[in-house]
Amino acid sequence: MDNILSPMKILLPIDGSEYSKRAAQVALRIAKLHSGQILLLHVIAPSGQERKKWMVEGGEKLLQVYRESMVNEGLDEASITTLIENGDPADQIIDTAEIKGVNRIIMGTHGKTGIKKLAGSVTEKVLRNSKVLVLGVPPNYEI
Ligand code: ATP
Ligand code: MN
Repeated sequence: MDNILSPMKILLPIDGSEYSKRAAQVALRIAKLHSGQILLLHVIAPSGQERKKWMVEGGEKLLQVYRESMVNEGLDEASITTLIENGDPADQIIDTAEIKGVNRIIMGTHGKTGIKKLAGSVTEKVLRNSKVLVLGVPPNYEI
């Protein structure tokens, strides 16, 4: 059961965009301040063809880059885990949040497509369906 006062277990879904990078900076600050844990998630969406090797390698690389930069910025290595999943990004974010028992999802309001829309479709779907508290980091947020 989510408790707003329980220790922070943050799910940080990343897509490699500038917006999810900002969300990562916010998550890092919060995790450091509250001795929280961060679960980094990258989802590979079905592309019509078979899952491409470069997509998996790219996703793994992305997760490692984020993990390393968080450790370099002072987050305890034991507080970070990484996960790569396949499927619909929003569904995977919601399922992972439940399975891993996180109590916060921190994500960009936007992603790779950018600020053409009010919010990205992944964020919109997560907000609509998540039972876990979601912190959407807006494009103009200055950390
Ligand atoms: P759209 O995808 O609807 O064209 P967009 O790319 O601008 O719009 P979203 O995809 O909704 O916006 O991205 C919003 C946030 O969702 C990102 O900042 C990131 O936190 C998360 N996200 C999006 N795609 C993925 C993914 N494949 N894996 C993990 N997180 C993702
Ligand atoms: Mn997107």
